[in-house]
Amino acid sequence: MARVVVITGPSGVGKGTLIRALRDRIPELELSVSATTRNPRPGEENGRDYWFLSREDFERRIADGGFVEHAEYSGNRYGTLREDLDKRTSAGRPVLLEIEVQGARQVAKTMPEALRIFIAPPSADTLRTRLVGRGTDAKEQIDRRLAVAEDELAAQPEFPVVVVNDRLEEAIDELTRVVATGIDEARP
Ligand code: ADP
Ligand code: 5GP
Repeated sequence: MARVVVITGPSGVGKGTLIRALRDRIPELELSVSATTRNPRPGEENGRDYWFLSREDFERRIADGGFVEHAEYSGNRYGTLREDLDKRTSAGRPVLLEIEVQGARQVAKTMPEALRIFIAPPSADTLRTRLVGRGTDAKEQIDRRLAVAEDELAAQPEFPVVVVNDRLEEAIDELTRVVATGIDEARP
């Protein structure tokens, strides 16, 4: 059943923007709250945007099998907490995971029934423009994220669904269609 929806794609492609719009269109969709070792950005809240953990705490949870998937990304650890995901799926609502490519690969193996969607930019140059425009990351962070993006873009063919985020409204429409269909097909 595709009650778990995975959205992946390079940093700056517009995942966060699309997901906000998607949740307005499909209010029953729950968002999984990941754990990370990176510092909160201004305005981010513990338990709402992420569970912000120390590296020691994160690593202890890995050893305890506390993660459904986890990855090192741009100098920090990120992962989906088993407890957080179970709590949301057992409430019977479809759950969305916004994760990077290595984590999405792990989910393909451990939860093959999950609907996996790759968000692609219209061109590689778009990513820098959008990351600079977003204004949340220092130049060094942006360069690191763009270096990772090259590999991430190469992973696109591994994903059964690709949505190109060129014109925002069109991408929102397409993503909504794909997710709504996936959720309906999985309804018991
Ligand atoms: P991600 O979550 O993938 O890192 P964001 O959703 O934060 O990406 O988007 C990065 C920047 O690009 C934001 O400033 C956002 O407003 C902008 N953006 C998102 N989608 C589009 C689009 N289709 N056209 C132009 N700008 C966009
Ligand atoms: P950011 O620091 O911009 O919030 O996130 C950086 C990257 O980490 C993004 O590609 C985001 O999708 C990814 N990410 C967020 N949470 C998780 C998670 O739980 N697991 C994995 N594998 N990646 C995550």
